[in-house]
Amino acid sequence: MRDHELYATILGVQAPWTVERVDVDVAGGAVHVWLARGEGGPAPCPECQTACPIYDHREREWRHLDTCQLQTRLHARVPRVECPTHGVVQSAVPWAASGSKFTLLFERLVIDWLREAAVTAVARQLKLGWDAVWGIERRAVARGLARRGTLALRQVGVDEKSFQRRHDYVTVVSDLEGAQVLFVADDRKRESLEAFWVLGLTAAQRTQVEAIAMDMWEPYVQATLAQIPDAAAKIVFDKFHIAKHLNEGVDRVRRAEQRELKQRGDERLTGTKYDWLRHPDRFTDEAWRAFHALRTGTLKVARAWALKETIVCLWDYRYVGAARKFFQRWYFWATHSRLRPMIEKARMLKSHLANVLTYLKHRITNATAEGLNSKIQWIRYTARGFRNRENFKTAIYFHCGGLDLYPH
Ligand SMILES: [Zn+2]
Repeated sequence: MRDHELYATILGVQAPWTVERVDVDVAGGAVHVWLARGEGGPAPCPECQTACPIYDHREREWRHLDTCQLQTRLHARVPRVECPTHGVVQSAVPWAASGSKFTLLFERLVIDWLREAAVTAVARQLKLGWDAVWGIERRAVARGLARRGTLALRQVGVDEKSFQRRHDYVTVVSDLEGAQVLFVADDRKRESLEAFWVLGLTAAQRTQVEAIAMDMWEPYVQATLAQIPDAAAKIVFDKFHIAKHLNEGVDRVRRAEQRELKQRGDERLTGTKYDWLRHPDRFTDEAWRAFHALRTGTLKVARAWALKETIVCLWDYRYVGAARKFFQRWYFWATHSRLRPMIEKARMLKSHLANVLTYLKHRITNATAEGLNSKIQWIRYTARGFRNRENFKTAIYFHCGGLDLYPH
């Protein structure tokens, strides 16, 4: 078999395209394959598929899967056609997406690797530029989003994620049942979420939404009340976010007390920060016993900790009336604790109580999408060098969107 026949076979080149020539450049580490198209006949417009007369040709190059240790580069003079509707446009080629410098098979390979490894690692291993890799990831996401069917959404999670600088946020909307990210928007403003409710869903879909888990964040609440029918009964303030708020309170109490104790040479609280924040289930038996004296002692932080650990019983109630009574007792205890940070957190909970208790009916939390959260953590961790927010958003869709990413 001659070299160009070999390449015609393995590339699957079909009429009107043929392999014209193959050059092996061992020193340059590449095989160059020239493809030619039978001249003359009309070619399809890439927009409307109408056969149109050829206007002129443009020289193009694509990277393909390697040939052994050599990179494979395809070359072709691609006709531009003159379409009565779309003007002069470059006709489509069967081996590459329009605008890409890579063949579809090469893009598939890159997508496979991107699912396994960080962008920087993929770029390094495949000898690609950072922008080229992001270009492939962006095209994959665009394809996936275009193919995604109508969403049948019942339980929605809304969360904010920061990236790079601490106060740069995106809003992430996910389907809690399907554990997929549906939408990523800039910032964490009312408009960020409203864009999804209004543009991402039809009126019928908005009515189908049964419950929405979120943090006690007023812009999200307002966006949801404005757009989702009967939202007041559907918003559920996420219990893991609430736990985080209470942990913040406990930590503030600990820091203040640690300062006081240290001034008196008392080192009891040194090195105990995470003991006060950790879930009791996450202790080893030994560590739990060691923590016993501290948590049952007379320290202020021990009282703050007891408040935090007691409120979690709220979510075990089945009936709203009983849960309300429990909360009132807890609230009295918290607001008489003389622990300023805990009093603030208790007041915050009280003013949001109606939508804390909606949990008893809907039983949803953002942690249902725990897999998504850890993936987003991984994305942040592996792409510290995001050059912009768009790349961060693209990566979230790529890894968490459950999308059909591959070119066919
Ligand atoms: Zn056309």
